[in-house]
Amino acid sequence: MANNNYVISTLGSHSALQILKGARDEGFKNLVICKRGASQPYRSFKVADKIIEVDNYEEIHELEKQLIKDNVILIPHGSFVNALSFDGLNELRIKYFGNKAVLPWEENRTKQREWLSKAGLVVPKLYQDPSDIDGPTIIKFFGARGGKGFFLARNEQEFRKKIAPHKDKKYVIQEYIIGAPLYIHYFYSPLNQELEVMSMDRRYETNVDSIGRIAAKDQIDLNIESSYNIMGNQPLVVRESLLPEIFRMGEQVVKQSKKLIPGGLFGPFCLETVVTPDLDVYVFEISARIVAGTNPYINGSPYTDLRYDGPMSTGRRVAREINDAIKSNRLEKVLHSDKAS
Ligand code: AMP
Repeated sequence: MANNNYVISTLGSHSALQILKGARDEGFKNLVICKRGASQPYRSFKVADKIIEVDNYEEIHELEKQLIKDNVILIPHGSFVNALSFDGLNELRIKYFGNKAVLPWEENRTKQREWLSKAGLVVPKLYQDPSDIDGPTIIKFFGARGGKGFFLARNEQEFRKKIAPHKDKKYVIQEYIIGAPLYIHYFYSPLNQELEVMSMDRRYETNVDSIGRIAAKDQIDLNIESSYNIMGNQPLVVRESLLPEIFRMGEQVVKQSKKLIPGGLFGPFCLETVVTPDLDVYVFEISARIVAGTNPYINGSPYTDLRYDGPMSTGRRVAREINDAIKSNRLEKVLHSDKAS
């Protein structure tokens, strides 16, 4: 079953390995666009049919004509906006899996909050004024990647001291939820309008996830500040009784997206949550595309094992959706359409 007419392509980082392998497993040719010097993993793991090396990702605009001619379908991942910029991504006329109209909603923390709240999910409290801080808070910068630079503050005084070096940055002050982080990976099919739970992960963040390796006394003596810079992901499953709520949350997010965003959300997405000791699930962020937390599951997850006969990564699920769309003459249903935005 070779889908020789289309080439599935992505940028060489984030979750490209599983996207490329998933494309192949579904019978597509693939292509990866890499920064010069960063192509070794794609060669060594033998997942790429073709590798194009560029000095700068923006060179994709020069390649655009050829990529369109070659029937390339781009699969966006978490490095796309950073690599190509919003406007750059919007300008691209290459076929694109997903809905670009979702991007501004994902990028803006205020809009995200509106979306999640309107979907009826529990979100952490936001503090409008530092003088209102009356408990643990986390200060997040707009556009910060992987939690880099976030800090904690318990009161206004601590906040003022820690914000001082970040004068011109936009930020939000969010209630810090004490609980266990849980990242839920979903896939919503625009073809059969069904929501799937693909997998889950917990992030491995430096240094918060390793501070416990030294004694509390040393933590204080060394004056360590928590940081949340992500360096990897660990697999996870939840207690089964949480699953009905997890499905409900995903379904509500999709339903609400159809009301707020022309064309709505489809394809892979992730709800980033903290689960409290009362098992309340607080959602603090949404990623509206494949997340790197799916990378431990190139061979499928315990959840995809239940539903599919063979290994099903999220990358492969994307290719499967494109495959199904082609077979049923509905390719436009899974690609960005300028008419929707
Ligand atoms: P983010 O960049 O929003 O994914 O946040 C980075 C990390 O900060 C997360 O992985 C969590 O460990 C932590 N975090 C973010 N928001 C909260 C919150 N409201 N309560 C507790 N932990 C949080």
